[in-house]
Amino acid sequence: MHNPLSWSRSPIIRSPLSLRLLGLMVLCSSIFTLVAAAAQIWVSYRSDVANIEQRLSVIEAGYRNSLASSAWAIDQELIGVQLEGITSLPDIAHAKVELEPEGVIRAGSIPENNSTATHEFELDYDGEHLGHVTVTASLQGAWANLRRNVRVILTTQSLRTFFLSLLLLWIFHYFVARHLTTMANYARRFTLQNLNEPLVLERHSRPPRRQDELDHVTEAINSMRERLREDLERQKADEAEIRKLSMALEQSPSSVIICDRTWQIEYANNKFLQLTGLRMEDIIGHHPAFLTADTLSEEENRELWNNVRLQVQRVGVWQGEMQRTRDNGERFWEQVVVTPIRSDGEHPSHYLILGEDISIRKRYEQQLLRQANYDILTGLPNRMLALDRLKLALAQARRDQTMVGVMFLDLDNFKHVNDTMGHDAGDNMLIEASRRISACLRGTSTVARLGGDEFLVILPTLASPGATEQVAERILQTFVPPFHIAGQEVFVSTSIGIAIYPGDGENSTNLLQNADAAMYEAKNRGKSAFQRFAPEMKEVSQERLQTESLLRRALEMQEFELRFQPILRLGDSRIMGAEALLRWNNPTLGMVPPDRFIPLAEETGLIIAIGRWVIREACRTVSRWQKQTGDPVIMAVNVSPRQFRDPHFVETVSAALQETGLEGQYLELEITERLILDNNLETDRVLRELDAMGVRLSVDDFGTGYSALGYLKNYPFDTLKIDKSFVGDLNRDSDDTALVSAIINMAHSLGLKVVAEGVEHQDQLEFLGTERCDYAQGFLFTHPLNEREFLLWCSNHVDG
Ligand code: C2E
Ligand code: MG
Ligand code: MG
Repeated sequence: MHNPLSWSRSPIIRSPLSLRLLGLMVLCSSIFTLVAAAAQIWVSYRSDVANIEQRLSVIEAGYRNSLASSAWAIDQELIGVQLEGITSLPDIAHAKVELEPEGVIRAGSIPENNSTATHEFELDYDGEHLGHVTVTASLQGAWANLRRNVRVILTTQSLRTFFLSLLLLWIFHYFVARHLTTMANYARRFTLQNLNEPLVLERHSRPPRRQDELDHVTEAINSMRERLREDLERQKADEAEIRKLSMALEQSPSSVIICDRTWQIEYANNKFLQLTGLRMEDIIGHHPAFLTADTLSEEENRELWNNVRLQVQRVGVWQGEMQRTRDNGERFWEQVVVTPIRSDGEHPSHYLILGEDISIRKRYEQQLLRQANYDILTGLPNRMLALDRLKLALAQARRDQTMVGVMFLDLDNFKHVNDTMGHDAGDNMLIEASRRISACLRGTSTVARLGGDEFLVILPTLASPGATEQVAERILQTFVPPFHIAGQEVFVSTSIGIAIYPGDGENSTNLLQNADAAMYEAKNRGKSAFQRFAPEMKEVSQERLQTESLLRRALEMQEFELRFQPILRLGDSRIMGAEALLRWNNPTLGMVPPDRFIPLAEETGLIIAIGRWVIREACRTVSRWQKQTGDPVIMAVNVSPRQFRDPHFVETVSAALQETGLEGQYLELEITERLILDNNLETDRVLRELDAMGVRLSVDDFGTGYSALGYLKNYPFDTLKIDKSFVGDLNRDSDDTALVSAIINMAHSLGLKVVAEGVEHQDQLEFLGTERCDYAQGFLFTHPLNEREFLLWCSNHVDG
């Protein structure tokens, strides 16, 4: 707390307000003091004067009679004594008696520079006038009094005023001025950075105090600060929001243009500039129509933007596709949306043009369109387009009374190429084949790929059927030279079926069906040939079609069954295992043998699902047997090349094992020689993976294929199955006898077990026994049996 008396240090003297207040207080208080003192002094002076006047009246009363007596007696001496007595009285300076007619007696003297008070009275005795008396009193005493009073009062009053002012000044400073200074300093230091610092006054007051003006001012300042802070925060948040939105706009993956109400471009975002390669200054102020000016004619462009404007006005949005040009001249497509921006709720203040680059989508659309009509691999028209063209050709032929030749081509051995050399080789083969076929045709003809290795040739406006056969002959000739695929020479021929409008069919469906039937006939007749349709071929092809459609539903209808044929060990005739053989039991077709439906299933790819069923069913069956009998029987399952190429094949096998709890060593997969001949990496990998799972592998129908023995060394085979054709000829053909014994020896030298298939006679068995063949399988023991029969046969066999 400040000591009010330590002036030099005190901020009071630095407080002009306090000083001014002090000045005013001193002035006012002095004036009041002066007036009051003057009044007081005046009153005291008047009372002094009144005392003197009263004394003069008392003198009159006291001396009138005695003086009158003395005057009557004309005793001048006595009068003199009496006058001396009067002048000895306080303040009385002079007394004078004037007697009638003449004579003046005086005492004392009249003071010169002093004011006086005079009192006169008459002297009468017994009604006779004797003279009059004048008494003069000096006012000097009163004046002296007056002067003293002035001195004393002025001194005390000014001292009082001075100290009182000082006190007031301190009070004012302590309670007000220093707080004002604090506020001033606070205001001076106040910046946006210290908005959180409130104004606090240093006041020592106990809480339940009535709020005063300083509190109100402090509160007002603090709430102002608080509002300011809130405003700033809101402003900051608003700014961040605006920044975010503008960044979003700027970095949006869509192109954005904003036009003013007169459709003049005001803004374009980065994406737009990037897409078009334009600069901001190139477009600002332009109408957006200039962006589409070089892809449309003037008329079209005007119409487009007129439409946009009208629709935005009426409906509130325009959507469509626009083609634009980049600065490098390249065209691109945009999906454009135009909408108004309304800030006052009614009239659009701006227009927003959003664009999305859909060039890629457009390209895909075009590609899809192409794909819908063209074969991707060969670039030839596909079935759809071919049918369209055929229909057109037929319509024209009807009008012009001409003929249309339809040729159905199917490559011979193509599946073999695909299976043994892989899909890439197959694809290359198809491309080359399509090139060769196309080269045999003239301009108006159509070559189409219908799928797989099937091609269709349409020869429109023919004058005679002979021309078709000439073309067919030419095509057969172009297939004579070998194809060079994957560094190998491959011979592939084609079989051609011909149907000619109008003789062989009235419409496209008929013609195609008939050409197909003719093609099958050509294949049946030994391939690499063409065949013109004849009505009797229809039945064959229809049967094929029927079989195919029935086969497609066979799995679902649970029409497949497995038969089991035992495989016995030579010597002790122990049952080593069984081969699972598939049967198709169809209500319409009856029991279909595998030779009749497996090629079809392979062709259509159905074999993959069917084969999966076979493997699972076989595993399930053998694991059941093992549990029932406790014998370690092996189940052999046939696998076709198409199955083997299925990328999920290994998975299928391992899943079947896992599901049934069968150990891999009790499953033997029979693979034909054809498959292994193709020593590609994929085959190798699959075989090794199967081997790693413990699954046994055997070569089926050994001797019917290429009989290349070398490959057997390279693969993890366990068993070799000699084809039944060799076994059947054993007793007749001495060549085969030698061959069979050579195969057995060779297989043994490679560490393979040998199974002889198709053993029908005892002497065959005996021969095989002397040649140390390991196992035998055939009708001699039993035909393939169903599960129940098989188990019964086994128990009898053991018993016997
Ligand atoms: P395969 O693997 O060589 O099967 C042996 C075939 O010879 C069986 O014909 C069997 O009934 C028959 N056979 C057995 N013993 C004798 C005999 O002493 N004399 C004669 N002449 N034949 C005998 P099936 O059951 O008609 O099967 C024919 C072919 O169908 C099988 O030949 C096999 O390649 C294939 N096949 C059978 N089931 C399946 C299967 O589930 N999947 C695949 N992909 N092919 C299968
Ligand atoms: Mg077999
Ligand atoms: Mg076989």
